[in-house]
Amino acid sequence: MPIACIFRCEYCDARPDAETQTALERQLLDLRHGEYVDADPGHWLTWHGRGMYGRTRYSCGDHRGELKAELREQYGTLGWHPWAMGPHPWAGRRGTDRARKLARQVLNSFGVPGS
Ligand SMILES: [Zn+2]
Repeated sequence: MPIACIFRCEYCDARPDAETQTALERQLLDLRHGEYVDADPGHWLTWHGRGMYGRTRYSCGDHRGELKAELREQYGTLGWHPWAMGPHPWAGRRGTDRARKLARQVLNSFGVPGS
């Protein structure tokens, strides 16, 4: 049975509109580390942390500043990544084919469509 991925802004609990939801789902397969990526049209911001930069985090268009401020506070001394300035357009998937295949298998096992 397919399940839906539910994204919420970490600051106001907002949910993305349908198009932004699709953009966020597309990023799920992205293998990034320490990078911000925009999700439009809702102007959401994803922080692809991983490793020392922690978990993936999301904010709505109204709370991008809060998310960045918090990440800079938490991880700002570890490297330049949290200090990156926008815009942060999504430029396609990143990662090796093998890693992508693995990620696809994991998502398929959760029933995420279009992966
Ligand atoms: Zn918000």
